[in-house]
Amino acid sequence: SVIRDYLAEALGDVESDTSGEPAGYIPELAAADPERLGAVFATVDGQVYGAGDIDTEFTIQSISKPFAYALALADRGFDPVLARIGVEPSGEAFNQISLESDTGRPLNPMINAGAITAHSLAGSGELKPAERVERVVHGLSAFAGRPLRIDEAVCASELEHAHRNLAIAHMLRSHDILTEDPRAAVDGYTRQCSVLVTARDLAMMAATLANHGVNPLSGERVIREPVVRQVLSVMLTCGMYDAAGDWATQVGIPAKSGVAGGLIGALPGQIGIATFSPRLDPHGNSVRGVSLFERFSSDMGLHVMEVP
Ligand code: GLN
Repeated sequence: SVIRDYLAEALGDVESDTSGEPAGYIPELAAADPERLGAVFATVDGQVYGAGDIDTEFTIQSISKPFAYALALADRGFDPVLARIGVEPSGEAFNQISLESDTGRPLNPMINAGAITAHSLAGSGELKPAERVERVVHGLSAFAGRPLRIDEAVCASELEHAHRNLAIAHMLRSHDILTEDPRAAVDGYTRQCSVLVTARDLAMMAATLANHGVNPLSGERVIREPVVRQVLSVMLTCGMYDAAGDWATQVGIPAKSGVAGGLIGALPGQIGIATFSPRLDPHGNSVRGVSLFERFSSDMGLHVMEVP
């Protein structure tokens, strides 16, 4: 099709860019094949177009954050979640230990402090940690429209190197933002980050956000519209960490990146987009993914502030 040819051509154009490095903080991520490259468009009416490595599995990492935040909002309601997690862009790196000075509240759900808190708020308050992980994996699967599973090797390795996230969780516990054992929260959050997805899955997850909370292929309503609006707003302002302002002006699509090389964008009412390429820029965003999104946005006029 014309769209598939367009995608293949776009991949061809970014292929020669070998700048950046795959995430190196654990051996399992450092070992990723840096040449992998794929892109998928999933429209709100259920059309899926892909090119390149669209069925290769990799860990979702931080792309899980907006979806776990959505589940927390859906399961607990807005007030309890907003009382514990802000919505202000931090302009800081994803693992910054930054909390509001007076309340101890994480600035937003896209940095690790907010994401660990959001994980702790998924499901009802009565769930045991393992049941909560099940709730989250089940919820991510509903967004994707197929059952997802955890990469236990990546998870175990991440847990051995989780000192910084543990420090963040202990800070959150000291402010009573977390009300449970900080280790259980980090364990669950790390399991959430270790869920395996493909670029195709990520495009469907993004398309579910673009399609007001209904998965375009399964037809399942995963979350309600007010939650979608909240999540997309936070993605637009905070999804790309300390590159969020550049992204909002250059690309203008609510988005989220992950350290394994995935990147999603969700354009309300239109399309979910996902790219996969493991080499990262200094912000922790996929180099070729960012280039592809810049191109898609300008070629097709996808910037949300542009009048169609
Ligand atoms: N598991 C990683 C962490 O919490 C995810 C980070 C990311 O994808 N940016 O450090």
